Amino acid sequence: MNSLALFQAALQSSSRPAIIDRQGAYSYNELLQQAAEVRQTLLNDKSDLREARVAFLIEPGFEYAAVQWGIWQAGGIATPLGLKHPTPELEHVLQDADVSTIVVQPSLKERVASIALKHRCRLLDTQEIAAQATKQPATTQLTTNITPDRRAMILYTSGSTGRPKGVVTTHANILAQIDALVDAWNWHFDDHILHVLPMHHIHGIINVLGCAMRVGGVCEFLPSFNAQDVWSRFARGGLSLFMAVPTIYAKLIAAWEQASPATQKEWSAGAQKLRLMVSGSAALPIPTLETWESITGQRLLERYGMTEIGMALSNPLDGVRRAGHVGKPLPQVKVQRTNEAGEVVDDKTPGEIEVQGPNVFQAYWGQSEVTTASFRNGWFRTGDVAVVDQGDYRILGRNSVDIIKTGGYKISALEIEDVLRTHPQIQDCAVVGIPDEEWGERVAVNVVCPDGKTLTLEPLRAWCKERLAAYKAPSLLKVSEQLPRNAMGKVQKPQIRALFSPSPPPN
Ligand code: AMP
Repeated sequence: MNSLALFQAALQSSSRPAIIDRQGAYSYNELLQQAAEVRQTLLNDKSDLREARVAFLIEPGFEYAAVQWGIWQAGGIATPLGLKHPTPELEHVLQDADVSTIVVQPSLKERVASIALKHRCRLLDTQEIAAQATKQPATTQLTTNITPDRRAMILYTSGSTGRPKGVVTTHANILAQIDALVDAWNWHFDDHILHVLPMHHIHGIINVLGCAMRVGGVCEFLPSFNAQDVWSRFARGGLSLFMAVPTIYAKLIAAWEQASPATQKEWSAGAQKLRLMVSGSAALPIPTLETWESITGQRLLERYGMTEIGMALSNPLDGVRRAGHVGKPLPQVKVQRTNEAGEVVDDKTPGEIEVQGPNVFQAYWGQSEVTTASFRNGWFRTGDVAVVDQGDYRILGRNSVDIIKTGGYKISALEIEDVLRTHPQIQDCAVVGIPDEEWGERVAVNVVCPDGKTLTLEPLRAWCKERLAAYKAPSLLKVSEQLPRNAMGKVQKPQIRALFSPSPPPN
């Protein structure tokens, strides 16, 4: 296997369109050309970046892909930054990954200029790269000697403790994650996918952009998610694939329900023409699956995966896609379920999903003990519990109470609590996830205020958004005199969840 296998289809498809974004359409040749320029500027007379971390803050689209490829071709580790992340979160990544260079679009330079200076990162904007680089043949990068076992990417993901952890994948891991999906979902060079997902998360990076580029297909980006724009794009035709999180499907359904009958007809007819629509990153509520099928004729394919492993389980491309189930292991991915003692359990017994295979990440960046603890007997422990029902996996939830899934994002309650505790009107707090049909879960907080003070939701949300990504800001608040704790002083989260649950109907 060649570490640059991802670029092979690009070379063979050179004149074909690769990416469409709001600036226009770009061929594979242009993508390779621009990646070669990024590589040349990053290398700056060196022959290999030797796994230096290169962070990048770039809107989804052609420049994003060119910078990602340029970093890989220069031998760096690509570390995407979240566009909506506030400064403290960006800074955490720069510091934790010891980033040497940040590549940024000119319009976003202001967002990182001061932290780049503080952390002594070289700051390069994409316009400077274009101006500085000498035009090179698109094939130059194939002369690199990067081997598949070299580290390629760090994605930051929330764990059950503290700040987000950096998940490190090698070129071989990335290729294995992509190839499992290319194989299972029959990706082909004439595929054309619509991309509406963030580009600092595995879903958008691997499942959508990565797969499309691997087969020489077309990846079309919408600048940001907007339900009307997505429906209009379906109606214009020419797409074959769409992938999104359950929250996006819920928003599309809500927009469709508000449209006129003529518009509904046009939108539905457009969506019907795609060959495959996929949902994942959080549990797909059965009513969403059913409503989507009734308005588009598309039975969503639900799959299960994680930043650390790529995708592991998938419903079939051809065959029955059972509601509430995430299907079977993907090609080359080994999956088992175990009890606390690490013994494999029978189908009906809930067990923790463990995964093995070339798709499994290498390590958490700079956290060897956490990495070791996340494996047992060579299997990665996902923390998700499932049963198997006639061969298909059904996810029951996480075995940790402190991970919240909201709108397709996975966030740590503890991380939010740490930030909230710095609020002058918060003495103590506990964050929990509350089940919600639209978001999967909503972030709820129970706070204790110091004497005579109180808090209301909207000002608290505004305060949070200056310090945390917006989706981490609590959308439910309860003020109490004290938090329920057990004899060991541990907060009792089930009791806190109950505070937010609707009261039972009167008899
Ligand atoms: P992330 O690393 O952000 O992609 O989050 C991975 C987590 O999302 C998994 O550990 C699961 O808890 C959850 N997840 C992903 N796909 C599904 C699914 N189809 N059903 C239920 N949970 C899912």
